[in-house]
Amino acid sequence: MAKTVLIVEDERAIVEILKFNLKREGYETLEALDGQTGPQLAQTEDPDLILLDVMLPKMNGFDICKTLRAENRTTPIIMLTAREEEMDKVFGLETGADDYMTKPFSVLELLARVRSLLRRTKEEEPEQPKLFDCGALHLDLETREVKVNGREVLLTYKEYELLKLLMTNAGIVTTRELILDRVWGIDFEGESRTLDMHIKTLRQKLKEEGSLIKTVRNVGYIMNGEK
Ligand code: CA
Repeated sequence: MAKTVLIVEDERAIVEILKFNLKREGYETLEALDGQTGPQLAQTEDPDLILLDVMLPKMNGFDICKTLRAENRTTPIIMLTAREEEMDKVFGLETGADDYMTKPFSVLELLARVRSLLRRTKEEEPEQPKLFDCGALHLDLETREVKVNGREVLLTYKEYELLKLLMTNAGIVTTRELILDRVWGIDFEGESRTLDMHIKTLRQKLKEEGSLIKTVRNVGYIMNGEK
């Protein structure tokens, strides 16, 4: 079944370019030209991914993103920012966005990021373990559930993929390159602080178990069973 991408953007020309290219790639599209219709469509249509502009009439993209996350929506979100300075805010304000692109962006790169976010993890082999425990942290690959001391932790798509990679490789150092390749799936060229931001929010969300994720300076990260 075709995946649906919701475009929330007030510049008609950009909406048309995105629609044209997404449809050509086989996606269904929905569009909202302001910050009120955007979240409404996200709620009623439950799209598979949202492209979200920052500067919008009625409500800005940061607030929309935070609102959707506060409603426990885990739909992957790519923020479209107009200025370099805005991109720090995407993660700095803990909006819950999964990725961002600075305008003017390359359509090809945007499509690559959309594909990467929508790519479903391959079916695990039947004999592969589905449950992972590390300290009081519990991960269920089948239900995508993450719990700390039995309490469910709500993660965004990328945060979950990141934690899954670290937990399924517990005790082994996972390099930054491997994480960027596996979780983001594209060449990130100098934007690897996206990874640091995700590690930061992941640690915060895991609360007392956040310290299980250890930084291996200049190399990557490792998940240990002991804090
Ligand atoms: Ca705008």
